[in-house]
Amino acid sequence: MFKDWLKKDDKSKFRDIPDGLWVKCPQCSQIIYSKDWNENFKVCIKCGYHDQLTAYERIDLLVDYGTFKELDKNITPLDILGFVDTKPYLQRLKEAQESTGLKDAIITGEGEINGIPVYIMVMDFRFIGGSMGSVVGEKVVRIIERAISNRKPVVSVIASGGARMQEGLFSLYQMAKTSAAVGRLDKERIPYITILTHPSTAGVLASFGSLGDIIIAEPGALIGFTGPRVIEQTIKQKLPEGFQRSEFLLEHGMVDMVVERKRLKNVTYLILSHLWRKVW
Ligand SMILES: [Zn+2]
Repeated sequence: MFKDWLKKDDKSKFRDIPDGLWVKCPQCSQIIYSKDWNENFKVCIKCGYHDQLTAYERIDLLVDYGTFKELDKNITPLDILGFVDTKPYLQRLKEAQESTGLKDAIITGEGEINGIPVYIMVMDFRFIGGSMGSVVGEKVVRIIERAISNRKPVVSVIASGGARMQEGLFSLYQMAKTSAAVGRLDKERIPYITILTHPSTAGVLASFGSLGDIIIAEPGALIGFTGPRVIEQTIKQKLPEGFQRSEFLLEHGMVDMVVERKRLKNVTYLILSHLWRKVW
């Protein structure tokens, strides 16, 4: 009886509210009008929680309107090993492609940041945890090679759980391949800025993710090679409070700055305008 009454009350209370009109903050549970949530770039107005953005939302945030041109759009992943875990890799890829509309976990292209031409690569965590397989590695290298040929700075936005285990060793090769490409960029003295978002971990962090000339992190992002639970089990010690979060890493010199999302574009612009004095 009581249950029925509660159900009825819930229904009447929310009867006139269409689906998706409200968002609940994953950190403080504040209910926020979704228009306000989106206008604040998916950052909680109460507690400052930075929710994940899709690759295209991130591009909208960082790149000047109308200047973004996507490159290498049609490179698609293959199941080289015929890998099957709880489901076949090919099926996993198909599901990720259908649910995200992406071919793989990274979008690359060129555009402008407050008028400065850049090459940009943005990972999307929705696609198999933003994992790096052959396609991610190849697209990263291609964008860096273009940056070297055309002498433009590179900005990368990381959101990744690491290497894509379904591609085995081919996935791990990408760490060496992308790191070598960043090395070539460095030799050419072309700026490379990395923006670490939640989460930036494992093989991606241990390669092109942490090789930026300047490393920016969003507040509260999980950044590290291995998760805290595994480390605790291995070293048999309790880890300090806030371990592997942006602010902790800033204190310990692993990142250069922690920047709120609404200031991210302007801060990136300011760094580029200091590092890159070429007339564009
Ligand atoms: Zn919140």
